[in-house]
Amino acid sequence: MASFSTKSYDREFLEASNGRYGHELTFYEARLCHETAALARGFPAVCVFVHDVLDAKVLKELSRHDTRLVALRSAGFNNVDVVAAKKLGMKVVRVPAYSPDAVAEHAVMLMLALNRSVHRAYARVREGNFNLEGLLGFDLRGLTVGVVGTGRIGAVVVRIMMGFGCEVLACDPVRNAEVETSGGKYVSLTELFEKSDIITLHCPLMPQTCHIVDAEALERMKDGVMLINTSRGALIDTEAVIEALKSGRVGYLGLDVYEEEADLFYEDLSSQVIQDDVFARLLTMPNVIVTGHQAFFTRNALETISDTTLANIRDVEEGRECPNEVTPDLLAGSPDGTGPSVCPPNRGR
Ligand code: NAD
Repeated sequence: MASFSTKSYDREFLEASNGRYGHELTFYEARLCHETAALARGFPAVCVFVHDVLDAKVLKELSRHDTRLVALRSAGFNNVDVVAAKKLGMKVVRVPAYSPDAVAEHAVMLMLALNRSVHRAYARVREGNFNLEGLLGFDLRGLTVGVVGTGRIGAVVVRIMMGFGCEVLACDPVRNAEVETSGGKYVSLTELFEKSDIITLHCPLMPQTCHIVDAEALERMKDGVMLINTSRGALIDTEAVIEALKSGRVGYLGLDVYEEEADLFYEDLSSQVIQDDVFARLLTMPNVIVTGHQAFFTRNALETISDTTLANIRDVEEGRECPNEVTPDLLAGSPDGTGPSVCPPNRGR
């Protein structure tokens, strides 16, 4: 198996799990794309992550050189042309759930850090500045939190926020009984936008959810609302949210994902000038915290990702039905299963 976009931690966890599977593993740091597809020559399986590009052209190239399996180390599969893969007779497998707690806890961490300005307090104290001006927060108890998408991750967020004494509003076309048992109340998306003090996004990226937070949605929200996105960047229209931050409509923004993150995240760009002006503008704001798609990044999640990926490969290798196979019928509505063109095209950044 040829593993692309491999960081040291991917290698460490895959090698540790592989003691139980005995696959032959080859690791590449390079992202899989048109230019690097030749590296997969002769490998029956490729193992990829969220920023690898498996469009029809790349898949055709892989297929020409006998690759029969694409094993995603992620839940989302919006970077794979699943229809093209099926036509080429290639199987696609994924890790549908690894640690909902990891992502939910990261979302809550962003809420707490923004509220109490931890990022600013940390920098001040390091400079010997113990002034509290500008660091005023608020109690979470009694506030209304809106959770958009109450699947595995959203349900954990509901449970945690109920523990803080918040009122939790939820919106999802499919109700989750666990959410109602925890005390969450299902409402329409409009009501959730209008009544919530904090809004956190946990739905997949699909045509229906692309820019679910746009200028019109922001207009409906409370002044000073806190917005958290740990799902997929294109759920938020970033330019609209920047305008809302400038006007004060949005009081706090916590992002773990960004529309154009593929050109930025997972690389050390600290010696370079960031070319993306929209992203750079976000970084200038005191009430914005951005993390680089790390919500999943816990030891527990990496163990599950590695183990499930290698088990998926074994199932396919041994001709067994794999429960984690991605088929084109999943495109109708499951996590991020909409092919690469679900959102307005890359705006050139
Ligand atoms: P899930 O499939 O368990 O839940 C998603 C929920 O969203 C489902 O209940 C679905 O009905 C709901 N939904 C679909 N369309 C909706 C809409 N229009 N409005 C409201 N809800 C809608 O998925 P999950 O495991 O909870 O993951 C949620 C998302 O988190 C994933 O799609 C992925 O994009 C993201 N994610 C991010 C990270 C990270 O590291 N930042 C890691 C894992 C997952």
